[in-house]
Amino acid sequence: MNALTINQAVKTYANGFTALKGVSFDVQQGEFFALLGANGAGKTTLISAIAGLNRLSSGSIQVMGYDVQMQSTQARMNLGLVPQELVFDPFFNVRQILQIQSGYFGIRKNNDWIDEMLHHLGLTDKANTNLRNLSGGMKRRVMVAQALVHRPPLIILDEPTAGVDVELRHSLWAFMQTLNQQGHTIILTTHYLEEAEQYCGRIAMLKQGKLVALDTTEHLLNAEQNVRIQLQLS
Ligand code: ATP
Repeated sequence: MNALTINQAVKTYANGFTALKGVSFDVQQGEFFALLGANGAGKTTLISAIAGLNRLSSGSIQVMGYDVQMQSTQARMNLGLVPQELVFDPFFNVRQILQIQSGYFGIRKNNDWIDEMLHHLGLTDKANTNLRNLSGGMKRRVMVAQALVHRPPLIILDEPTAGVDVELRHSLWAFMQTLNQQGHTIILTTHYLEEAEQYCGRIAMLKQGKLVALDTTEHLLNAEQNVRIQLQLS
């Protein structure tokens, strides 16, 4: 079974603009995979469809074998999505937010895992701090933990390092590598080939709603000039 299967995904928005024009690819379990593309390539549209947040116009997506539209609950239980934007209720503290999110997934006792995540993300000291008193970078860390409370087999990070300080970048990548070694599948979207190159075994490249490259990082880097030009032009 694949961690993710995308079959002929097409998305046309209400204004008639087609952001995905028939995208197909698979990600196998245990991969560390990058979805690369310039602004407007369609990455967020695709991620939202994977998370069931918007409906494809046609085509299908499976998360760990579950169709995201027909079996949305099972698909959602198997996916952890770290979104680009911060969305929080600011009146709770960090531990409370993570406990509430655990409850949402039906997990009652999650403190060991919550403590482990706080440790990996450098948040242990902030466990009892109210969210409204945290810096933007700290809130981002909480968002990562929030996406992972149910230990999802598939983890997707949407541009995780945009506007993020070096220290968080390092702890985030180290944590993702640990999770990947434990068998979790990791997919990240990024504008940066360098970031994909450093961590990912395979890269898919979107350009104007189409898949224009899908290969191992090694092969793509051999055609690096070509890839860079594609990214600039898209
Ligand atoms: P970025 O790196 O800037 O986040 P992206 O690759 O994630 O870009 P998307 O956000 O998926 O790209 O956008 C793809 C295209 O779809 C863009 O041209 C965008 O303007 C368009 N688009 C996105 N959302 C909508 C919407 N709700 N209605 C109409 N067009 C939209």
